[in-house]
Amino acid sequence: MHWYVPRSLRFRFFAALGGLLVCAIAALAGLSAWVIFPTLQAEERMMVKRELDRVERSFERDQQQLFAQVRDWAHWDDTYQFVQGDYPRYQDVNFSQEMFEDMRYQLMAFFNTDGEVRFLAGISPATGDYQTCTALVDECAWMAPWVNNMQAAIDDDSVSQTAIYADQTPVLVAATPILRTDSSGPPAGWLFKARTLDDEWQAFLEDYTGLPISLELVNQPTPPSDDLSFSGNSVYAERYFPILSSVGPQSLGVGIELNRTSYLTSLTTFRYVLLWTAGLMILVIGLVLLLLEKMVLRPLRMLTQFTQHLTMHEADVHGLTQRNDEIGILSRAFQEQFTCQQRLNDDLLKLSTHDPLTGLPNRRLFDQHLDTAFSEAGADSLAVMMLDIDHFKLYNDHYGHPEGDVCLQRLADVMHSVAQSRGFFIARTGGEEFCAILPQVSPESAKAIGEQLSAAVDDLHIPHTTSPVKPFVTISAGIAMLQDPDSQSPSAVVSCADQALYQAKEAGRHQVALFRPPLASGMISEHNTPQ
Ligand code: GH3
Ligand code: MG
Ligand code: MG
Repeated sequence: MHWYVPRSLRFRFFAALGGLLVCAIAALAGLSAWVIFPTLQAEERMMVKRELDRVERSFERDQQQLFAQVRDWAHWDDTYQFVQGDYPRYQDVNFSQEMFEDMRYQLMAFFNTDGEVRFLAGISPATGDYQTCTALVDECAWMAPWVNNMQAAIDDDSVSQTAIYADQTPVLVAATPILRTDSSGPPAGWLFKARTLDDEWQAFLEDYTGLPISLELVNQPTPPSDDLSFSGNSVYAERYFPILSSVGPQSLGVGIELNRTSYLTSLTTFRYVLLWTAGLMILVIGLVLLLLEKMVLRPLRMLTQFTQHLTMHEADVHGLTQRNDEIGILSRAFQEQFTCQQRLNDDLLKLSTHDPLTGLPNRRLFDQHLDTAFSEAGADSLAVMMLDIDHFKLYNDHYGHPEGDVCLQRLADVMHSVAQSRGFFIARTGGEEFCAILPQVSPESAKAIGEQLSAAVDDLHIPHTTSPVKPFVTISAGIAMLQDPDSQSPSAVVSCADQALYQAKEAGRHQVALFRPPLASGMISEHNTPQ
């Protein structure tokens, strides 16, 4: 199947610019999908990570403060003596419920170097009562899970400065060996302080960070990376911290919820920029096409019409030659070129159809005219007349060839004038021979025309002293009438005229002969020449 593909400039421009537009929009879409949107998302993730880092730093700061407080208490001669049993009033002087509440302590635990409990003090998370004991019994039984973890760490020799315990409510724990005030040893035991990560602590951290914080106990080993989940306008991010627990692997997830305003605003702004860019590109390309159509394509179409009109000799309808742009220059150049070519064509046509010496139509044009006259003749009468200068060879011999040319020109001029005035066609068909086509004439009027031509030549009185006929240049003429257009050919009629001319020459020249069949009589009439 053959598809028609338009090849016009307009189609090509539309196709090229349309293709360009599609490529540009595809490039924009690709750039957005593979570069800009991922960059925006990565930037958002970085922002969330920075916020989590901030929360983690606040968390660590609280741990460090708790550790500093433990060390302050543990590196103190009073405490040193107390765990060795040398300072019984220590607990009365230093412990109170207010102090625990003010310092946000849940529990303080003193152990000897073997990990045996020396003294416990704390506020029960269930009742809110302040209790002190020297063993994990009765009202201090609630401390057992934490104290067991502390003793296990002392036994394993794996006590760390800070840790999180979570056998019940998660707590922040700080521990250090008990030394003298000047930090000298040997260690007399261990001091542990625990701070519950409860709602109060959560509120403290929220105040400190300015972020909404949530805590979650996760029953799995601490994941190495943060957990981010995006939903609509907000993102929930959680960072995990290891927990010391006797029930299995557990982690503490500290989560923050952030709104995505910045990301979503950037996204919306960027989408608008994309849409505007695409719209602007479409507009620009539309305008380019419009301008192209108006400034180039339409004038080019007009130029095409202009050239067609020129060849049909019509006027410059669009006034293109008046323009002062490239189209105007092209139109004028084309017009000049066309005029020049037309003139050359005319010259060429004239050269090919006219005799250069006399300017009369030549044999070729005569033949064309004769064919036309034949086809148009129909029932009308038509005559062909052949004319020949008498004794022209003698003229040339006597006066010279150039003078013979002048003589030919003068005769041609005068015969042309007669032909014009009588409305018939005459041509120079040979050296000193002429032929005329006489439409719608009777034999008599044809003969009269022949005699008029002969008389006009006589009237020139061109001297021809060597002529045996007259002392001036004369002509003879032979006429043939078209008898039957259906059976006679143009050349047959010309041949008859030639025969009549021959008869005129034979009869003494300077006369007009009308062709008659060979035996017919009275066909030659001598021309009365003026004396
Ligand atoms: P007739 O009366 O029988 O026609 O005698 P004629 O001498 O005219 O005829 P002929 O055919 O013997 O000679 C024709 C002459 O016409 C010969 C030639 O020199 C001359 N002639 C033909 N063409 C030209 C031309 O272009 N210029 C000149 N000067 N002479 C020409
Ligand atoms: Mg001749
Ligand atoms: Mg002659």
